[in-house]
Amino acid sequence: MEDPHLSHPKLRARAVTRTFGRAAGAVHALGPVDLDIAPGEFTCIVGPSGCGKSTLLRIAAGLLRPSSGELSIRTSDRRAVAMIFQDYGIYDWKTVLANVRFGLDIQRVPRREANARAEEWLARMGLAEFAGAYPATLSGGMRQRVAIARALAVEPEILLMDEPFAALDAQLRTILQDELLALTQTTETTTLFITHSLEEAIVLGDRVLVMSARPGRVIAARRPPFPRPRSGDVRTAPEFTALKSELWDLLRAEVGTEAAA
Ligand code: ADP
Ligand code: MG
Repeated sequence: MEDPHLSHPKLRARAVTRTFGRAAGAVHALGPVDLDIAPGEFTCIVGPSGCGKSTLLRIAAGLLRPSSGELSIRTSDRRAVAMIFQDYGIYDWKTVLANVRFGLDIQRVPRREANARAEEWLARMGLAEFAGAYPATLSGGMRQRVAIARALAVEPEILLMDEPFAALDAQLRTILQDELLALTQTTETTTLFITHSLEEAIVLGDRVLVMSARPGRVIAARRPPFPRPRSGDVRTAPEFTALKSELWDLLRAEVGTEAAA
């Protein structure tokens, strides 16, 4: 079953590999990876630790070159790509509002409009009262919401997220997953989301890709059978549990490979 969108993917990877270092000490970290992400699609990647997930995301973000192969992104503008990291990547010396406005400032959006858009995103993330605060005074969950607001404020065509909720407690992670679900379903954002949580991947993804142990390759793809718009309620569906155990079997085999190597 071919998705018609895939003739014009937003992101396309062909035989992408990455090796770090040279000669005897070289580490083949990734690939070859082939990947097409359709416009508006939310793709999740799970895989064992150290399999090359962050490497793939950094290549997609243009922060790292592939050693071979090609990765292309189809947007109107390279700045239309936003990235959110596990460690938030927000600036402690800027106020919350200035952090959220950051991408808009880079795009030279006029200050009044930038402030208005930043304030709107802060309100959506429940942070309206904290516009003038400095990030150091916020909890981890609030800091991560600032990072999300900053990424979404630029209305990116492509959103790249590398285990953005990994450092948060389970309850907060659930809340932010539900928020992200609501947000991405009301915009046409194409998202590549890395997580080590199968639940997270199934709740959020149109598609879940499983990567092998290093060098990471895509070894399986599943489509969670939940139509959009979807809510966090899918967590209690029998199909959810079934898919989770199927994905876990695939992943466990890879974690075993790594431990034995
Ligand atoms: P993951 O995100 O799946 O945990 P990474 O992409 O971070 O994995 O790393 C994949 C492999 O590449 C690991 O073995 C890691 O040590 C190695 N690696 C990642 N970045 C570098 C780097 N800059 N220099 C050397 N090795 C690296
Ligand atoms: Mg990583």
